[in-house]
Amino acid sequence: MTTLGDVSFWYSDIGLPRTRRPALSGDAEADVVIVGAGYTGLWTAYYLKALDPGLRVTVLEKHFAGYGASGRNGGWLSGGFAWNHERYAEMAGAPAVRRMVQAMMGTVDEVIAVAEAEGIDADIRRCDELMVATNDAQRQRLSDEVKHRAKWGEQGRVFSIDADAVSERVRIPEAKGGMIVTGTARIQPAKLVRGLAEAVERRGVTIHEGTEVTRIVSGAAHTATGILRAPVVLRCTEGFTATLPGYRRTWLPLNSAQIATEPLAPEIWERIGWDGHEILGDFDHTYCYCQRTREGRITVGARGVPYRFGSQLDRDGTPDAETVRRLTAILHRHFPAARKARIDHAWCGVLGVPRDWCATVGLGADGIGWAGGYVGVGVSTSNLAGRTLADLALGRRTELTGLPWVNRRVREWEPEPLRWLGVHGMYRLYDIADRRERAGGPPSALARFGNRLTGRE
Ligand SMILES: Cc1cc2nc3c(=O)[nH]c(=O)nc-3n(C[C@H](O)[C@H](O)[C@H](O)COP(=O)(O)OP(=O)(O)OC[C@H]3O[C@@H](n4cnc5c(N)ncnc54)[C@H](O)[C@@H]3O)c2cc1C
Repeated sequence: MTTLGDVSFWYSDIGLPRTRRPALSGDAEADVVIVGAGYTGLWTAYYLKALDPGLRVTVLEKHFAGYGASGRNGGWLSGGFAWNHERYAEMAGAPAVRRMVQAMMGTVDEVIAVAEAEGIDADIRRCDELMVATNDAQRQRLSDEVKHRAKWGEQGRVFSIDADAVSERVRIPEAKGGMIVTGTARIQPAKLVRGLAEAVERRGVTIHEGTEVTRIVSGAAHTATGILRAPVVLRCTEGFTATLPGYRRTWLPLNSAQIATEPLAPEIWERIGWDGHEILGDFDHTYCYCQRTREGRITVGARGVPYRFGSQLDRDGTPDAETVRRLTAILHRHFPAARKARIDHAWCGVLGVPRDWCATVGLGADGIGWAGGYVGVGVSTSNLAGRTLADLALGRRTELTGLPWVNRRVREWEPEPLRWLGVHGMYRLYDIADRRERAGGPPSALARFGNRLTGRE
């Protein structure tokens, strides 16, 4: 039997929290209020206390720390720059974008260093990222991607390998080549977010769980059980942001879903290879992302239903049957040796997508700050965001606060049904493009058209 939802497989692994931290009861005051106890909120709290141990920092969380994408993701700690370099460069110039690429690359070491210092066991394993091209069109995209990333400062760590070199690492039947990114790592997401929550509490941060913020205003966060006043209020709700009044069209909640197999027998692993435990994906337009877990399962992630009308959210990560079928088909295509493996768990979650598909972090003159819109690369980015938000909140002008994503303002998404039509249109075009390319066609222009439809390109 496949478990559906229950937040994520990662919580089946470590157990859902049995109790909640106390909710906010009555009005209170703090120096900084953080809304949302995912990686972004917790990293921000962590660095605030590291910079100013006496600061009163309170985190308000609707469910429990790690309920959102931070406890559900694919565990890729990639340090990758996932957004449109040129868009940032238009306003800030190319050297500033290169500085941000370097800062992103540094997040992997930083997360690992803090995890070690705080005694957080998150199954962290340093490994390469391997993106596999499975047809000629994808091979072309791979080669373009390597050049593009080298141009923006990743030349030292990104390179391509041929089909034989891929199969020395992992046997994927259709592989025609691969892109390697060094300096990345695999994690168990829920272990990281749980450990981080405990680490910030040890530093004196208060976390109230079961406390939904109903309104953010200058100087306060309102909840049903009290108002928490503070000169600085930070919105760290990423994919959930559309549920907050005033922010309904700020970031679109895009869905991503995953499955986890049962632990595979050693003879199956022998057929698959994958001894390097690379974080592994493909070059489909509707790309997948996989990991080999601590105990020898395969997780496969990809888009299912890309977006729900009116920015609605899933219920505790429960995916639909078609999504599970699609993910299982990807598993069987890339890892035929695991065809008979039981699917133990399937789940989904939301990530935040801004109108220009570029992540931002900032603090307004009204004392309201934010970070997010990571477009699916938030495990490492949230760490950079947390360090940057902490600097902004304390009024520090640092190298981080000078990066081009800081205080970048982006227009809102369109009202429905345009949002739904745009995103579903884009993914429909991706599907057609992938099918044509799989049949031997050249890189499809349809996908680019799809990207333009939603402002991705
Ligand atoms: C299925 C999936 C796979 C992914 N895989 C990867 C990956 O492999 N690598 C990668 O880099 N990124 C990945 N991402 C993206 C990454 O997980 C996120 O970008 C990142 O976790 C965002 O962290 P966050 O703290 O900003 O948001 P979240 O972790 O979503 O936390 C937001 C928190 O705010 C709380 N909240 C919401 N509304 C309120 C409210 N009104 N009041 C109080 N609290 C509220 C929520 O309950 C939640 O706990 C994935 C995302 C998903 C969904």
